[in-house]
Amino acid sequence: MKYNTVRNTSNSPFTMMGPIELRQPIPSKNIPRADPFLLLHHYGPYPINKQNNPFDLGTHPHRGFEPITFLIQGEQKHRDSLGNVQIIKEGGVQWITSGKGILHAEGPTPEFIEKGGELEGIQLWLNLPAHRKMMEPNYQQANIEQMEKITMDKALLTIIAGEQKGKKGVIETQTPVNAFWLDVDEGGEVVVDIPNTHDALAYLIKGEVLVNESEVLSYGKTAMLTFHNDGDGFVVKATKASKLLVLSGEPIQEPVVMEGPFVMNTRKETLQAFMDYQQGLMGVLD
Ligand code: MN
Repeated sequence: MKYNTVRNTSNSPFTMMGPIELRQPIPSKNIPRADPFLLLHHYGPYPINKQNNPFDLGTHPHRGFEPITFLIQGEQKHRDSLGNVQIIKEGGVQWITSGKGILHAEGPTPEFIEKGGELEGIQLWLNLPAHRKMMEPNYQQANIEQMEKITMDKALLTIIAGEQKGKKGVIETQTPVNAFWLDVDEGGEVVVDIPNTHDALAYLIKGEVLVNESEVLSYGKTAMLTFHNDGDGFVVKATKASKLLVLSGEPIQEPVVMEGPFVMNTRKETLQAFMDYQQGLMGVLD
């Protein structure tokens, strides 16, 4: 097997989203973009209780891409203008296809705030190609129990979306995309297959791993590797018990204009999105 070579490495620098402090490896100085992935926010772990609830996002719109939440710890509630009201727990995913417009709100459940605990997750912005940006909006959710798994010696690969070693994820994707949880015990080794049309990345959530026998990902230091699409995949060897999110996808290679909660191809289209939102054309959520 020919390994994909490393394109860029980055730590996971802190940034502010309004009053919320979180980590943002994409875009960052070293990884300005990882087409088709536009943005990755790693929030928490935050201690959540009645006095502290920093990650409670009120109603807001999206258009033109797929905002996805991967929950690492805690319990979050999603509501949207399509009428969905759902809760995800540890390992679960919320996969929004915003298309021509959706309003949503998300935050810890009242029960979770009451009982208290750690909240941690990843928000990913996955681009949509021009011909899908104005599609009907859609919402999908899967909890960890519904996801296909590949169990290995000292390792577990969970298929959130896409395909690995003949098994398929339950989430339906709009473009060719893979999303996997990778849990590896100390000493475990996993070969991740990546189609040669995909750009790929590995994001370390905890622990320490050696990738392709040369690159080290270590929590608090280097957190993300992006790969060229010049091989068949990569190998991860854990030097400590580790958790990673692995993403890959075919680059969309179109102009990107990100303005607030909208991602279109031109500035004219993002301006139209703001006008459509103000006129209520993206739906209603109270
Ligand atoms: Mn959102």
